[in-house]
This record gives sequence, structure tokens and C-alpha cells, in this order.
Amino acid sequence: MPTACIFCQIVAGNAPAQIFYRDDQVIAFKDIHPLTPVHLLVATTQHIASLNDTGQDTAALLGRMVAVARQLAIEQGVHQSGYRLMINTGADAGQSVFHLHLHLIGGRHMPFRFG
Ligand code: AMP
Repeated sequence: MPTACIFCQIVAGNAPAQIFYRDDQVIAFKDIHPLTPVHLLVATTQHIASLNDTGQDTAALLGRMVAVARQLAIEQGVHQSGYRLMINTGADAGQSVFHLHLHLIGGRHMPFRFG
């Protein structure tokens, strides 16, 4: 566990977070700077720097992240109005925390645009 990784610190219980779900593989918590009324992060409990560090052996884990996000969307009441799942990977995507996570955003209309 890289001690400098903030999400590893959250997994270990050494940094505060509003946790909505956790199991042995996945943890979900509120984004500290929410972009939308609902903005949760679904992260792996294991340190994986980015989607580029996954492969066939992590396919089930990625599926679990999406399944957890879907369940959270239901619990947050955005499954009917709509929501978006997003995995930023690398510099051009603006990835700022290099610990694999997906964003679950919703709760308002979200026009798709670049920039
Ligand atoms: P990304 O740009 O995809 O790497 O997203 C990283 C996200 O993590 C950003 O939306 C940050 O607001 C969020 N974030 C950073 N530090 C924390 C933290 N300590 N607790 C919760 N969310 C965080």
C-alpha cells in the first residue's frame, strides 16, 4: 500500500471519507469536490494506479465496480433520472488520483462536452 496514496489511506481508515459501500474488493465514498448533487467514487481496495494497469485478470473486478455503481445509483435515487460512470485515465483525461476509481455522477442534467 503506497502510504502517499490518499485512496489507500481511505481504504485503511487513516483518512476521513463518507463511505457508502465497502467489501473486500471495492469501496465507495463521496467525492470531496462533488461536481453534481450525486458524486460518488467507486475505488478498488487494492492499489491499482489506473485502468492501464488492468487486464484479463481484473475483468471481474471491473465488473464488480460497475455493479456496485449501479446499485448505488438506485440507492441514491438517480437510476430513473439518469447517471454517468466515468474512469479518467492518464493526463489528457485529467486523472488526478492514481488509484483506480470510477465516478458515479448524477442528480442533474449533464450535457456531454469536451473541455
Ligand atoms: P480523477 O480526476 O478521476 O483522478 O478524480 C479524482 C477525484 O478524487 C476528484 O474528483 C477529487 O475531488 C477526488 N478526491 C481527491 N481526494 C479525495 C478525498 N480525500 N476524498 C474524496 N475524494 C477525493
